[in-house]
Amino acid sequence: MHHYDVIVLGAGLAGLSAARDLAAGGADVLVLEARDRVGGRVEQAILEDGRILQLGGEVVGRAHTAYLGLVAELGLTLIPSYVAEPGAMVRATPEGVSAGGPPHWFGPGDEDCQRRVTKEFVDLAQTVDPDDPWSHPDAAALDAMSVGRWLRSAGATPQVVRLWEIGQLSLASGSVERTSLLGALRKNAAVPSAGHYDYEDWEGLRVAEGSATVALAMTVELGHRVRTGAAVAAVDVRSASASGSASSGPGRCRVRLVGGETLTADAVVSALPVGPLRSVAVTGVSDERLASLHAQRQACAAKLALAYDRPFWRVQGMNGLSECEDVLGSTWPQGFGLLSALIPPERYGVMLGMPPQERMRELISDVARLYGAEAEQPITAYLRMWGSDPWTQGYVTQWAPGDVMRVGPLHGTHEPPFYVCGSDQWVAGYMEGAVRTGRATAGEVLRHG
Ligand SMILES: Cc1cc2nc3c(=O)[nH]c(=O)nc-3n(C[C@H](O)[C@H](O)[C@H](O)COP(=O)(O)OP(=O)(O)OC[C@H]3O[C@@H](n4cnc5c(N)ncnc54)[C@H](O)[C@@H]3O)c2cc1C
Repeated sequence: MHHYDVIVLGAGLAGLSAARDLAAGGADVLVLEARDRVGGRVEQAILEDGRILQLGGEVVGRAHTAYLGLVAELGLTLIPSYVAEPGAMVRATPEGVSAGGPPHWFGPGDEDCQRRVTKEFVDLAQTVDPDDPWSHPDAAALDAMSVGRWLRSAGATPQVVRLWEIGQLSLASGSVERTSLLGALRKNAAVPSAGHYDYEDWEGLRVAEGSATVALAMTVELGHRVRTGAAVAAVDVRSASASGSASSGPGRCRVRLVGGETLTADAVVSALPVGPLRSVAVTGVSDERLASLHAQRQACAAKLALAYDRPFWRVQGMNGLSECEDVLGSTWPQGFGLLSALIPPERYGVMLGMPPQERMRELISDVARLYGAEAEQPITAYLRMWGSDPWTQGYVTQWAPGDVMRVGPLHGTHEPPFYVCGSDQWVAGYMEGAVRTGRATAGEVLRHG
């Protein structure tokens, strides 16, 4: 039986970027992927007219240096994302739809209040070390508090709290009432920026050839080292030592596939999302390591991607960007005549409760409420329910109050020969988290020999 140096679990951006560096470092590496396609949470469809529609991860920011570096190595092209689109953003709530600022529910004093609490939040974020938030003198108290509670304690008016909430749900992160303040501060500190979630720093760029092309390009480089249709059921990192072999000898790690086939390697890199990882039986790893991994959660979201023959929202002076309190959480322009939309975790259950054949119609009518009747006639529409996809079970990392302390400083760390990477192992998910942790993990494995 062939024995590998390293087996990587999962062919998302994390697993592929780890495997690419491992192969470049001379390791005999195999990537096992459950689905019949690579890319995980990045996926794209090519339309008949050649336009490429992203159904998952899409935009990155100037501060996402690991991802930007990988894109340059792959010879792909970065271009401005929706931030370059002219026009006004729209906000939709049950009582109205308005374009531009301030939000239609703001009254006297709310804009000043918003500026003041945002500055306080950004200043507080500067006291948090994103790599070691646990070292903050008030770590436990900051983690126990929700962002919503903190906003009120800082004197935010209900109107300002509502703006933070609609903004948070537009990103399809969980409600401010269910987000740890320490988790949110850590995320802000991870991308140095003058403001709070500055769109240029987090979302100002996209890959012209398509975000999912990043995964496809790495897969071409890796060739036969990537095996799809190979769902992992169990990992045992001590089976050979238990049967008498030297603990550093060949065959130390065993990986069992769902069909029963077993493969062996010197090391295993898990690049699985935290949800599916809970269904993989992992033995030979400390209880603390597993408890930390299993304590993490994700926000569940769905993405709607719509293709039209023209960007009709421009005619009305709008840029396609919106924040909504309908089932839809947000929209933004993805490319010429292409719209993306997210359904946030708080409304995911509403989607699940709808008859499946009604979901698309209801979501598109939310889009028409923003941009008019032309929105009712897309050329193509895709709805990807990532939150209930068995191989994702989420969307991005969600830090609920108490979670940063519960997951603890083992977050993103390894227990050789069992290594972990993936966007969930970075501060805040994102494609940057996948590539950054994937490449760092490959470096660790190569250092251990
Ligand atoms: C709708 C949506 C929009 C997003 N938008 C953005 C964005 O604009 N910008 C951004 O930076 N990020 C965005 N993200 C987040 C980003 O896409 C992800 O954080 C990132 O792609 C995750 O990469 P990963 O390799 O860590 O995990 P994944 O991509 O989830 O890869 C994990 C892989 O493991 C496989 N797998 C699971 N279980 C098993 C098993 N038992 N055996 C074998 N294989 C298994 C999966 O099939 C998958 O291929 C978005 C995500 C979604 C869903």
